[in-house]
Amino acid sequence: MALQKTAEEIELIRESALVVSKTLGMLASEIKPGITTLYLDGLAESFIRDHGAEPGFLGLYGFPKTLCVSPNEQVVHGIPNDEPLENGDIVSIDCGALKNGYYGDHAYTFKVGEVDHDVRQLLKVTKESLYFGIEQFCVGKRVGDVGHAIQKHVESYDYGVVRELVGHGLGKTMHEKPEIPNYGRRGRGKAFAEGMVVALEPMINMGTHKVNQLKDGWTILTADRKPSAHFEHNIAIVDGKPELLSTFDYVYQALGIQSDEENRFRTKSLNK
Ligand code: MG
Ligand code: MG
Repeated sequence: MALQKTAEEIELIRESALVVSKTLGMLASEIKPGITTLYLDGLAESFIRDHGAEPGFLGLYGFPKTLCVSPNEQVVHGIPNDEPLENGDIVSIDCGALKNGYYGDHAYTFKVGEVDHDVRQLLKVTKESLYFGIEQFCVGKRVGDVGHAIQKHVESYDYGVVRELVGHGLGKTMHEKPEIPNYGRRGRGKAFAEGMVVALEPMINMGTHKVNQLKDGWTILTADRKPSAHFEHNIAIVDGKPELLSTFDYVYQALGIQSDEENRFRTKSLNK
């Protein structure tokens, strides 16, 4: 698998990533107390197919649904079910799309109704850590620089960095090399190069970094059952610098949030 993509391939991955971005934006306006995650899954599957793509997770390694939906103490890989979300929950939604032979893979953790201050801080700090990681994804830096930047930020809040799950290269397959842990040492690991495309995805726990897996063989949850947050973007290295391929703009539009956090990582305006 080529680690470095051509400009044409990067545009195809951008197209797939934008299908996921739009799907997350559509879901953002549906998430409220009382809604089930199975309902969200059905909406997402139809939406992705209506946009000329295939759900990227459905059937991948045998996963049974379109979305990974992981509320509260679930970290990732939760399976949509018929339990309603409740006021005060958070819910991480990870979504993949396959279009023109290339994958997009992108995640956001949503608030459900009114959420406690300490949980809101976990969401804010986790998303900030993603951008600290993205800053390091450029020519001249290495895998360990990304992990170090993420880890340093979240551990200053005494949060735990999940060790067992990592960011990854992205392209014709969902998970390519290199693996990019959300912890690490500066200057260590594989050097980044022009044309690399990755999914960076800090999974950050309010308490211990340790996790367990449910008997369903999929769901990862925190060992202390405290909440966990997950944000994921797709990024290419273009002209030596990080170029965002995915966007939270559709989510922000749906939620009425003003943000310019992505601007410094985007040379191309979004085709809406
Ligand atoms: Mg993902
Ligand atoms: Mg991923």
